[in-house]
Amino acid sequence: MSLESPPADEAADCSGATPPDAPAQACPEPAVGTWRYAVSVRELCEFTAKRGSLDRRFTPSATALEGLMGQGVVAQRRGADYETEIALEATCGPLRVRGRADGFDPRRRCLEEIKTIRGQPDDIPPNRRQLHWAQLQTYGALFCRVRKLPEIALALVYFDVASQSEHELRQLYGAEELEQLFAERCAAFVDWALQEAAHRTARDAALQTLVFPEPSFRAGQRDLAEAVYRSAAQGRCLVAQAPTGIGKTVGTLFPLLKAVPVHGIDKIAYLTCKGTGRITALEALGNLRAGTAGATGAAGPAGRSLRVLTLVPKDEGCEHPDKACHGEACPLAAGFYDRLPGARREAVTLGWLDAAAQRDVALRHGICPYYLGQELVRWADVLVGDVHHLFDANGLLWGLMQALDWKLAVLVDEAHNLVERARRMYSAELRIGQVRAAAQAAPAAVRGALDALTQAAEELVLDTAAPYAVLPAAPDTFVQALQTAAGAMSEHFNQHPLSVGSLLEFHFDLQRFLKLVEALSDHSLFDVQTFLGPGSPGTVADAHAADHAGGSDAALCVRNVAPACFLRQRFKALHSVTLFSATLAPPEYAIRLLGLPEDCAWIDVPPAFPAEHLSVRVADGISTRFAHRDRSLERLVAVIAEQFDQAPGNYLAFFSSFDYLDKAAGRLAAQRPDIPQWRQARRMGAGARAEFLSRFRPQGQGIGFAVLGGVFAEGVDLPGSLLIGAFIATLGLPPVSVTQDHMQQRLDQLFGPGQGYADLVPAMQRVVQAAGRVLRTPEDRGCLWLLDDRYRRPEVTALLPGWWQLGRRA
Ligand code: SF4
Repeated sequence: MSLESPPADEAADCSGATPPDAPAQACPEPAVGTWRYAVSVRELCEFTAKRGSLDRRFTPSATALEGLMGQGVVAQRRGADYETEIALEATCGPLRVRGRADGFDPRRRCLEEIKTIRGQPDDIPPNRRQLHWAQLQTYGALFCRVRKLPEIALALVYFDVASQSEHELRQLYGAEELEQLFAERCAAFVDWALQEAAHRTARDAALQTLVFPEPSFRAGQRDLAEAVYRSAAQGRCLVAQAPTGIGKTVGTLFPLLKAVPVHGIDKIAYLTCKGTGRITALEALGNLRAGTAGATGAAGPAGRSLRVLTLVPKDEGCEHPDKACHGEACPLAAGFYDRLPGARREAVTLGWLDAAAQRDVALRHGICPYYLGQELVRWADVLVGDVHHLFDANGLLWGLMQALDWKLAVLVDEAHNLVERARRMYSAELRIGQVRAAAQAAPAAVRGALDALTQAAEELVLDTAAPYAVLPAAPDTFVQALQTAAGAMSEHFNQHPLSVGSLLEFHFDLQRFLKLVEALSDHSLFDVQTFLGPGSPGTVADAHAADHAGGSDAALCVRNVAPACFLRQRFKALHSVTLFSATLAPPEYAIRLLGLPEDCAWIDVPPAFPAEHLSVRVADGISTRFAHRDRSLERLVAVIAEQFDQAPGNYLAFFSSFDYLDKAAGRLAAQRPDIPQWRQARRMGAGARAEFLSRFRPQGQGIGFAVLGGVFAEGVDLPGSLLIGAFIATLGLPPVSVTQDHMQQRLDQLFGPGQGYADLVPAMQRVVQAAGRVLRTPEDRGCLWLLDDRYRRPEVTALLPGWWQLGRRA
C-alpha cells in the first residue's frame, strides 16, 4: 500500500479509466487534485474481509513453487485462448486498487482464482474461504469495468498438488452486484487509508526536520552517518566497520531516518544478531523521538509521527504457553480478527510499540500480543527485530516485503555474527534415534515409511564406516526414503490437520531437512557422524555428546558453509542495507560469504579516541597452543598478576575454552589469593550473568574470567573504572576437528586457499570484539594484553585494527 502524488489531471484520468458504457459505478470519484492511495487487491481484502478466530494449527498448504506449478497445470488444461495473470486496476474514491487475476476462460466467460492446496478443500477454514471469495469478487468487479461486461461467472478453483485434481466453486455475478461489493470494501478501508496517508505525510514532514539528538557528532560518527545516507540515497549495500564508542546505533539510524522522506523509503528494519542490541536500538530510537522535543522531554513531532515496533519472540509475547494457537484452545486467539481492528487503531495512535505497549493494547482488546505484533509489522515505520526475521527461509519480513512490494532499508547491527547466524538458518540435522522414536509414535499408515527411512539412514551410516564422514552427495536411495517418509507425514497431517504434539514437530523438522537436502550443492556439507556415548571418538561436538549421554546414535547433517546462495536475492531486493560492527575486516569475508552485491561500499571508520588511550602489548614468550598450555600457564598467570599489581582495577581475562579458563583462574587463585576473581560458567542464566557483571564496580578491583566468543566478549558495556583492561589468551581459533577440516577444505574450494575464512578471520573478529570491551568512551583509557607469541605473525597483525600500536614484552 502506498500514497501516490496526484497528477494534475487526476479527475480526467479517473473518469477516462472507466469505459463509457460500463455499468454505473458505486465508487465515488475524488475531487481534482486530491491524493490517491494505492492498495493491492490482496491487502484490501485481508483488511476488510478477514474475520473470526486466529488459527495457527497445521493446515496443509502448498509451497510458493507448487503454487506456480499448479497455476501452470490449470492454465494448460484450459486451452490456448485462456488468459493468465491479467493485470487489473481501478479507482474507487481516493483509492487506486490493483492486482492480477489468475485466469480468464473466454469460452465459459469465467474469471478464475486458483488456490493451490494440499488435501481436501473442505478442510479450508470458512474464514479463509470467505477471504478467497472476497479477492475473486474484487477481481470480478475490476474485470467487468475494464471489459465492459454486464455479468461474469467467478470460479474459485482449489487445485490439489498431490492428486492434481481440481475442485471448482462457481457462481454467476452481475456487474452491478460486484461493483457494490467492491464499493463496500473500499468504503470499509478508506478511513484507514486516510489516516495512513495522513500519517505518511506527517511522518515524512517531521523526519525532514529531525535533528540529531546529541549536541554534536562524535569523531567518526559523522563519517559513518554520511556513508549510511549515501548508501540509502544510491540504493546500495554498505559494509561499515566502526569502532566501539562512536555511537554506531544512532549514527546509522539518524541518517537512514533522514533518507526516508527524500528517497521514498517505506520502512526501516533494524536487525540484530543478539537480543541486547535491540535494547540499544530502542534507546536510540527513544532519543530520536525526543530529538525535537525541546525542554519538556516529551516526544517531538518526529517522534510522535514515527511508529516503532519491536518484533517480540513468541516465547516472550505468548500469554498462554500451555495452549495451542487456535480459537478453541486459547481465549486470545478466539475472535482475534473480529477484535483486531480496534487494537490496530489504538496501536498506531500510540506509535511507540515496544513489547510492553503491544501487550497492554492486545490485552485491553482481548487478543494475543504476539500475533498483534505480527499484524502491526504492516503499519510500522521502524521495525526492531532479529536477523532471522529477514534472512531465514521463512522470515516474516522477507515474505511481507515481497508480497507488499515494500521499499525496505535495513541496518544489521553486530553484523560480524551474520555469517554464523545465517549458516545455522540453512543447516539441519536428522538423528536416527529421532526417526526411530517418531516411527514408534506414528500411526500405522506412516510407520512403514519412517521405518524405511531409519533403515536407509542406518545403511548410510554403516557404509561410511567412520565416526565422521563428509559425503560428496546425499545417496539417491536415502533421498528417496526421505522423500517418501516426508510425503507420508504430509499425507497424514493433510488428513489430520488439527493435530498437535511432538509428531507434528518432527514433521516440520523432517520437511525442513528434506528441503535442505534437495538444495544441497557445494555451499553445504552433507555429513554423517556417530555418537557412541560421551567422550567417545567420533564426537565432533561436545554438546552433541552431552545430549547423548545415554547411548549411541547417529546423525545426518546438512551443514551450511557459505550462505551466499540463499541470501543473494534478498540483499538484491532490499532498497539498501548497511552491515555494521566493530569487526568486519576484511570486507570480502562478509561480501563473499553472505552474497552481498559486488559493488557493495566499504568504510573503515577511525576510532573516536587517540590510539594512546589503549596500550596494546603482546606477551612474546607465551605459546597457548594446545600442547604448550600446561608449560606456559605459569608465565601467563604471572603476566596477569604483574599487570594487576602495576595498575589495580577491574579486568576481563578471555580464554578459548572453559577448561583452559578454569586452569588459569585456578592457578592464579592458588598463587595470588589476594586478587579477587570471578568466573564465567557453562550455561549461565540471566541472573547469573547479571551477577557476573555486577562484580565490575566503580573503582573496583578484580579479574573476571570469561570465554572468548561468549556472552561477555561482546555487547558488554563497562565504561570508565568498571573495566580498565583485558587479557586475551590464545588466538581464538576454532578447535581442531574433522568437521573444521572439511569446512576449511570447502571454503578453500569455493574462495581459494589461504584466505583464512575458516579460522583466522573469524578468530580475529572474536579477539577484536573482546578487546572492544576496554575503551567504551573517548575518556576511557586501558590496556590490552595479547597472550600468545603468534600475535606477531604478519598474517595475524594484518587482521588487527591498524590503529593498535603493538608493544612488546620480552
Ligand atoms: S497467547 Fe500464546 S497460545 Fe494464545 S494465540 Fe497467542 S501465542 Fe498462541
